[in-house]
Amino acid sequence: MKTPVKGVFNGAFDTVDNIKISPFSRAYTFSDSVYEVVPFFNSSAIAFNDHIKRLEFSANQLSMDVDLEKIVFEINSLIKSSEFENGYVYYQVTRGVDSIRSHMHEPELAIETFGYVKAHLFEWKPVKVSVCDDIRWGRCDIKSTSLLGNVMSMNAAKLDNCDEVIMHKDNLLTEAGASNLFFVKDNSICTPALNGNILPGITRALLINELKNHDIKVTEDDFRLDDLSHASCAWLTSSTKGLAPISQISNLESNLDIYHPLYKKSEEIFNKKFLS
Ligand code: PLP
Repeated sequence: MKTPVKGVFNGAFDTVDNIKISPFSRAYTFSDSVYEVVPFFNSSAIAFNDHIKRLEFSANQLSMDVDLEKIVFEINSLIKSSEFENGYVYYQVTRGVDSIRSHMHEPELAIETFGYVKAHLFEWKPVKVSVCDDIRWGRCDIKSTSLLGNVMSMNAAKLDNCDEVIMHKDNLLTEAGASNLFFVKDNSICTPALNGNILPGITRALLINELKNHDIKVTEDDFRLDDLSHASCAWLTSSTKGLAPISQISNLESNLDIYHPLYKKSEEIFNKKFLS
């Protein structure tokens, strides 16, 4: 029998299969929701405040009023109750439940919240990717559950035995389907600059900052597919992947070394600080 997943819905802790949700929840009808994935290692959350700040930003952009203290309490409680040493909490905030489906929501809807906790191994895993057009909307800096562009592209890539996609808008690199992109070109570490087209990844920021503390500079700028094609190594970052080296790009000529010294150094610095 599968172990039940522990969760919390509108403040009530229960296993996820006992939670009942209205089909008029705007999460269901419009993806009118924002979310976070908070990783924990050795039972303590990694960059908890940064995740909460980003959740607040996302909710503010959608004019949703969130009770951050309650959210922090619930995420901490899920981590403690899980008895997992390593894992993550998924936490979603939805605008609420309409009385009938309508694009324009009713005023003063009660916010709906949902979270669950899951064990997770932070293991080293090279990834195979493909490149594709970034077909998403213009506010990818909001961590919204509206992820159809990512879902369509990643599932198309899966048919090609890829683990992830690297997206570009008119050749300008944006990010991966569920992670940020780094690569080394001419011996310097590069990553696409933050703007409305990418999520400001927490792992991305932690890595840039930690490398800076070791006097290693990361160039944040506009980069193109051609830059990636000439890269000597590349990797993805996310809360659940940590750093994952890219072993192969299925549809772009490239020659990537998953043991490149600058990648190995970055991984060592990151893992020592956050995953040991
Ligand atoms: N970009 C996208 C589209 C994501 O979905 C994610 C994580 O889910 C990331 C980047 C990485 O963000 P973080 O490092 O905060 O997990």
